[in-house]
Amino acid sequence: MSEHHPVVVVGAGHAGLAASHFLTQHSIDHVVLERGEVANSWRHERWDSLRLLTPNWLSRLPDHPYDGPDPDGYMTADEVAGHIESFAARAAAPVRTNTTVASVRRTEDGYDVQTDGGSLRSRAVVIASGACNRPVVPTLASAVPASVEQLTTFDYRSPDQLQDGGVLVVGASATGVQLASELHRSGRPVTLSVGEHVRMPRTYRGRDVLWWMDASGVWDERYDEVDDLTRARRLPSPQLVGTPERATLDLNALTDAGVQLVGRWAAIRDNHALFSGGLRNVFSLADLKLQRLLDNYDGWALANGLDTELDAPERLAPTRVPAVSRLQLDLASGEIRTIVWATGYRPDYSWLDVPVVDAKGHLSHDGGVLETPGLYALGLPVLRRRKSTFIHGIEDDAREVVDHLTRYLGAGPRSDILNR
Ligand SMILES: Cc1cc2nc3c(=O)[nH]c(=O)nc-3n(C[C@H](O)[C@H](O)[C@H](O)COP(=O)(O)OP(=O)(O)OC[C@H]3O[C@@H](n4cnc5c(N)ncnc54)[C@H](O)[C@@H]3O)c2cc1C
Repeated sequence: MSEHHPVVVVGAGHAGLAASHFLTQHSIDHVVLERGEVANSWRHERWDSLRLLTPNWLSRLPDHPYDGPDPDGYMTADEVAGHIESFAARAAAPVRTNTTVASVRRTEDGYDVQTDGGSLRSRAVVIASGACNRPVVPTLASAVPASVEQLTTFDYRSPDQLQDGGVLVVGASATGVQLASELHRSGRPVTLSVGEHVRMPRTYRGRDVLWWMDASGVWDERYDEVDDLTRARRLPSPQLVGTPERATLDLNALTDAGVQLVGRWAAIRDNHALFSGGLRNVFSLADLKLQRLLDNYDGWALANGLDTELDAPERLAPTRVPAVSRLQLDLASGEIRTIVWATGYRPDYSWLDVPVVDAKGHLSHDGGVLETPGLYALGLPVLRRRKSTFIHGIEDDAREVVDHLTRYLGAGPRSDILNR
């Protein structure tokens, strides 16, 4: 006989625990299955120096605000794990750790969940297994000469782990700029390959730039109001770092430090990495988008009577195009000893035996509600709002998804025709 619960939640990161919090509020029996520990990704899948790019005051979870001594600071990965752990304890979440979900299959009246610790039956399943389970590495990586060491952000922990010599960091979103900066400070010559990116100052008019996102409502824009949802869901993370100095880490800061910028890595031929030459256009586009964002903030501050309270509007200098930007690098010459792929993350649904994953490996869903009745998702980019993937973004999403799930359970046999 399988164990039975009305709901099984897969994953005890902040998303799965937020689902648990609202399920408990609705008095719905459930279990949260976690292959490792609570907040596993923060404990085992981040580099040593990582700090959140969101300030502490923003890292609020349902009924669990940040209440430490440094609201304007940025948590380390260990501190995030502690914050999530205390949320799990406060919510008394029924978490079963060290339990890997090996498969989820549909049955006549719900789901069959197979784990390495036995099988369970449920009417509904909440997929909260994370959006960043695996690194994305372009196929051209396989043509890199064996003499060059390759690391992904899942392997990288600190500069000490790298051999001496030049490093090529590929990708200039939050992860790429942070690692390029850290590796350069370790004394290694660093080249950064830059594609489309989102430029942001750390502070604007005296406030954290993410205060503006939160206060002005940009982050609250709903998924069904976003113009191009597919694009919004693939948007790279902004070039930000959380440091006590609240420093801006954009491409100008990296150039000043001595990091060499090259274009997007387009191909590899005869051991040569070939980079696109369009840096000027890529920089102009990022500068233009930043300009528009700051214009919107200024307009919002004026409309809300905050204009005089805040520092005067300011604009950043345009991103400087290098006088000479290299179009190729000989990877066999010894100049580059290590490549760090900071080219994004993807989810892993290899355990999900329900046909709800598209050709690109993403879940097909409408605001976290999947086509297959009783199946739900949380913690994915722009799931229901622009803020969905951030820690503070889970509360509204989890409340609404669990409301839907509660109606589904309450509808009994008619649940398949439940109006979405
Ligand atoms: C490098 C990086 C930096 C980030 N910085 C910030 C930031 O500054 N601020 C912010 O708000 N957000 C940030 N995020 C985004 C976001 O907070 C994280 O991605 C967060 O970890 C997502 O929470 P989650 O609960 O959805 O997924 P996860 O934290 O990944 O939790 C999913 C859990 O599911 C478990 N699991 C997966 N598969 C199975 C299985 N088959 N069986 C059982 N368990 C399983 C995993 O072990 C994991 O514990 C960052 C993300 C990354 C990758």
